[in-house]
Amino acid sequence: MQIEKVYEPQRFEPHWAQWWIDSGIFQASVEAPGPVFSLVIPPPNVTGVLHIGHMLEHTEIDVTIRWHRMLGDNTLWLPGTDHAGIATQMVVQRKLAEEGISRHDLGREKFEARVWEWKAQSGDTIKRQMVRLGASCDWSRERFTLDPGLSRAVREVFVRLYEKGLIYRGEYMVNWCPQCHTAISDLEVSHVDVAGHLWHIRYPVNGLHGRYVTVATTRPETMLGDTAVAVNAKDSRYFDLHGRTVQLPLMDREIPVILDDLADPEFGTGVVKVTPAHDLNDFEAGRRHGLPKIQVIDENARMTAAAGAYAGLDRFEARRRIVIDLEQSGALVKVEDYPLSLGKCARSGTPVEPLISTQWLVKTKPLAEKAIAVVENGQITFVPPNWTKTYYEWMYNIRDWCISRQLWWGHRIPAWHCGECKEVIVARDAPASCPRCGSAQLNQDPDVLDTWFSSGLWPFSTLGWPDQTADLAKYYPTSLLITGFDILFFWVARMVMLGLEFMGDVPFRQVYIHGLVRDAEKQKMSKTKGNVVDPLVVTEKYGTDAVRMALLQGAAPGTDIVLTEERMESSRAFANKIWNAARFLFMNADPQSTGIQELTSGIRPIEDRWIWARLNATAEAANRAIDQYRYHEFAQLLWHFFWHEFCDWYLELKKVSAVGWSNAIAAFETALRLLHPAMPFVTEELWQRLGQSTPKSIALVPYPKYDPALADAEAEREIAVLQEVVTLARTLRTESKLDPKQQLGGTLYCRTATLAIAQRHAEAIQKLARVKLAFKSERTPKARAMRSTAEFDLILDVPESKEDPARRQKEREQLEKNIANSRRQLSDEVFLSKAPAKVVESIRTKLVDYETQLAKLS
Ligand SMILES: [Zn+2]
Ligand SMILES: [Zn+2]
Repeated sequence: MQIEKVYEPQRFEPHWAQWWIDSGIFQASVEAPGPVFSLVIPPPNVTGVLHIGHMLEHTEIDVTIRWHRMLGDNTLWLPGTDHAGIATQMVVQRKLAEEGISRHDLGREKFEARVWEWKAQSGDTIKRQMVRLGASCDWSRERFTLDPGLSRAVREVFVRLYEKGLIYRGEYMVNWCPQCHTAISDLEVSHVDVAGHLWHIRYPVNGLHGRYVTVATTRPETMLGDTAVAVNAKDSRYFDLHGRTVQLPLMDREIPVILDDLADPEFGTGVVKVTPAHDLNDFEAGRRHGLPKIQVIDENARMTAAAGAYAGLDRFEARRRIVIDLEQSGALVKVEDYPLSLGKCARSGTPVEPLISTQWLVKTKPLAEKAIAVVENGQITFVPPNWTKTYYEWMYNIRDWCISRQLWWGHRIPAWHCGECKEVIVARDAPASCPRCGSAQLNQDPDVLDTWFSSGLWPFSTLGWPDQTADLAKYYPTSLLITGFDILFFWVARMVMLGLEFMGDVPFRQVYIHGLVRDAEKQKMSKTKGNVVDPLVVTEKYGTDAVRMALLQGAAPGTDIVLTEERMESSRAFANKIWNAARFLFMNADPQSTGIQELTSGIRPIEDRWIWARLNATAEAANRAIDQYRYHEFAQLLWHFFWHEFCDWYLELKKVSAVGWSNAIAAFETALRLLHPAMPFVTEELWQRLGQSTPKSIALVPYPKYDPALADAEAEREIAVLQEVVTLARTLRTESKLDPKQQLGGTLYCRTATLAIAQRHAEAIQKLARVKLAFKSERTPKARAMRSTAEFDLILDVPESKEDPARRQKEREQLEKNIANSRRQLSDEVFLSKAPAKVVESIRTKLVDYETQLAKLS
């Protein structure tokens, strides 16, 4: 059978990507047999395009999913996207701005229609890209967080939490973006280091003439809203201030001195100003002491009427004038340069303003307690396990969760305000009239919910909840979540809390946290550095399989992944190697007529016994590696097997023996199956060419498992001897600088049973090393071109002129160096206590080997 000379992934990858979808083989069925393995995708933003981080995440998921499917599990990978409230709204607003209109010109309904229109046009970019990259998800179950079903789940959860008293409306300090006009979550605030200042201001103490306290602030404009100063009760410097008041400069307001741990005696002057309306810590201190909250900055970042003479000014203009006024009045003690981390809105770049506003909040403490318990008792485990600690830290220090956003794109809060009596009605559907006063004047709350509210329900809302569907019964709890560490709290923790509350069970049993993809210099990829790798560009260049393999090779748990051009290039070469192996095999045997039945009876050639033993050992290790998320090990195992065992030795030995081709085809087919989860395209393409009619895809063929019957220590030992002789002979040839094609004579001296093994392979040795050997069991004579192992000596008949005395000297020096190194390692107590026994053993063996060689050389 003919196979094309050149491996061109671009020719067949799009075909298989589409064929997998059309043939429906990734579609899960609740009726299918086997243990359940289910996983929901971390939904990418609908605005997004695939980046290399997604590709890593999807490759790891896909390897695991394909593996489970091949194991015969009832496997579901549920895909979908997130409506991503603020991110999407900003994209559409920018488009409107290009047309010269704002969302307010359109009004809410028309604006929402525009966003849906935009979503219909470009919202499935991610899906198209995922399909192209071979993600084996069940697209018939694709979900979007704003689907009618998921929106119903959101309303149901909101109403039930409200009825339980776990959702309330109240005052809360939020990160406010004066540009986007909404509260934003901590994740949407990006911190930038800026050169700021620290202004030291003194406040006179009332009733103690000439006594002052000095406070320091990076934001002097907030002093207009101070309603106290705090000292620590234990700070002896300020005992005389207990019970007194100070006079607030510029505002001429009398404010109390409070005793609070907010003031740290070790830090600065030990006195701090308290501005409950503009700082979260002060807000909480204000609650403890019942302080008034005076808002001096408004939603547009302008000074309010409460700011006195500064009312109406922009916050930064107000700052400038306040500093001048403080200086002129003598209240400014000093100004220091002070580096600070400024919070900016990640969408608009505007400095965030902490503001108090009336928001909807979730009381998270009771939910968090249960979410901590399920990790403590092992119902959910994190891999790597160190993330457990991070999870606990967040959960023990959890604050109430502000779930309302002042946006138009998202799930509208299911609450209505009565225009007559101000009653707030929370309901699943719009009420006709106010249950308290009967008025029909009801207005729905204008806010929408935080995006993480709906994605927090993702593992059960996507399976049909609140209905008791067959999918929900079959696939919840999901088996595994694979995601990034940055959303461990925002998403993972919320899913745990909400899953326990509404399903009474954990949303997933295991969480695997993957690393970041970095460039060759181990730098984070970023647009500003210009080192971003676009997955679509590199897959076009190297092939999807090669990029997947390159990512997997670096994907050790708990480490970041370094992705380089070299690695992708060598992965492409690896795919090419497999392609060429198929080419060679198919030239010698047409699998469609030979069949791929393994020879199980009769006398099997030794190389076949060996390759099956190696396949078997590789299968055992590969299964274990995927099971433990050791993707790098999985990739390296398959690489080593295919390249160094199957191609470099097995196929070469087959050329010599030239019998048992159906066996070779069978071994190749098994190897393709082992590799399939990592490199789905090239394995599918070649597997299809084997002419199997059932099942219809390699993705559905059983994954190879360890079979004790295939273990064959004798064959492994025999081929090891052959490999050793051939390798040594090749080394000697290279060192003697001989023409690689020149046939040589030589002698193998050996006084153990190994001699007989080597003798059996004289023909293979002659063909692979171009050395015709004589075999002798007598004492080794002195010779020039000689190499030794602990068991045998190999002498090549090298022509006189090629002999190089300097080489022997060099060889001796190298051996002495190796011996010294091994001895040092074996006497290093620290090394011995840490190194695995296998490693220590191999150093010992090598040492004996070096010593024998040196003795023989001398
Ligand atoms: Zn903003
Ligand atoms: Zn009413």
